[in-house]
Amino acid sequence: MEKSAQHYDLLIIGGGMVGASLACALANQPLRVGVVEAVPFRSDAQPSYDDRSIALAYGSRKIFEGIGLWQQVKEIATPIKKIHISDRGHFGATRMDAAHEGYPALGYVVENRDLGQLFAKQLSSFSNIELICPAQLKHFTINANDAEVVIERNGKIETLTTQLIIGADGGRSAVRQLSGISHSTDDYLQNAVIANISPGKDHQNVAYERFTDSGPLALLPMSDGRCSLVWTVDRDKVDEVMAWNDETFLARLQARFGMRLGLLQKIGKRKAYPLALVRADEHIRPRLALIGNAAHVLHPIAGQGFNLGIRDVAALAQVIVEAKDNDIGLLSVLNQYDQWRKRDQRCVTGLTDGLVRIFSNQITPLVMGRNSGLLAVDIIPPVKRALMRQTMGLAGKLPKLARGIPLR
Ligand SMILES: Cc1cc2nc3c(=O)[nH]c(=O)nc-3n(C[C@H](O)[C@H](O)[C@H](O)COP(=O)(O)OP(=O)(O)OC[C@H]3O[C@@H](n4cnc5c(N)ncnc54)[C@H](O)[C@@H]3O)c2cc1C
Repeated sequence: MEKSAQHYDLLIIGGGMVGASLACALANQPLRVGVVEAVPFRSDAQPSYDDRSIALAYGSRKIFEGIGLWQQVKEIATPIKKIHISDRGHFGATRMDAAHEGYPALGYVVENRDLGQLFAKQLSSFSNIELICPAQLKHFTINANDAEVVIERNGKIETLTTQLIIGADGGRSAVRQLSGISHSTDDYLQNAVIANISPGKDHQNVAYERFTDSGPLALLPMSDGRCSLVWTVDRDKVDEVMAWNDETFLARLQARFGMRLGLLQKIGKRKAYPLALVRADEHIRPRLALIGNAAHVLHPIAGQGFNLGIRDVAALAQVIVEAKDNDIGLLSVLNQYDQWRKRDQRCVTGLTDGLVRIFSNQITPLVMGRNSGLLAVDIIPPVKRALMRQTMGLAGKLPKLARGIPLR
């Protein structure tokens, strides 16, 4: 049957970090891919490519290698050579060292805005990918042989058709909502306050994770000697923390973090994000799959959200490409993606949620338990290695892209 100009093999709703990664993973495949994104990539209001920085796990580097994007990502990335995890005022601490474990780095820190620019350039360079932006999903209908997707572009309503709708539209996914897929939300009653900090001492590519009585805080190494701060604070304190002037903020942060990086001297713009664990109850339906935050939103305590999302991308892209001449919207095809991803999603969600609950608690036996845990991880190599493989995204049955192998 003749396909219309408005027909796509797949339509990715959401060109944020995960949706854009999927489009790049499918570049140069014999598939027509549309990416419907509501907010232009360079806009200040872009919710995915905003003022944050994210820590990419080593496994995500391998996926970017497989996609053919690592050389470009590398240019905007700062390697994490060591990780230091500690519990303020207690004995437990764990150290991880890339060189000891035989990796060039444990992970990499990238500014989201830089990633946005990179994806914008990439998406416009492949003939099989069309960026439809700014345009917003309005609704869709699933039929036996295709799906009709209604979008609003430049104030006009348009109908597109596709074999497969990908919901990559973030934690408040319209795709999830319009398909009637239910989800659970566990509000942590915490906010993450982020800012860039200039420390007095060279960060030496060390990432610090420090658990304090007022919430966990992470300082990640960035370019130009800066560090990216993610500080978790209780929701009822966040207005006060955001209202502190820069001197007060730095002094309070210094008191909790200590002097490992010398005097914390300068701070950039601050922003606060409410934190919750959001889980979609189903990830596939006929002609529909959810990926990234549309499927699962995590607490940033362990820096796993995007890393989990890009592993969804690696598995789904492989399943789609291997479906060859099959209809890629069939449940029998999408089921392979769903089954493949279950274990990793369950492990990472459980690990992240467990960390939040254990380290947000000051009950004495728990504090002692977590300190013994930190110490055990530090001194028992197999425990440390197993934890590292999981958090680096190297555990379980890895898709081709996650082994750095191009799809075709
Ligand atoms: C403070 C903080 C720190 C973090 N640090 C890390 C870290 O170190 N490492 C890590 O791996 N993860 C981290 N994360 C998590 C990471 O940011 C997310 O997992 C990631 O952004 C998810 O990407 P996504 O593309 O699935 O969703 P989003 O980033 O939410 O993107 C969704 C996109 O869909 C678009 N969209 C929404 N609705 C529509 C619609 N109706 N029509 C068209 N387009 C639409 C939006 O405009 C947006 O561009 C952190 C998160 C926070 C809050």
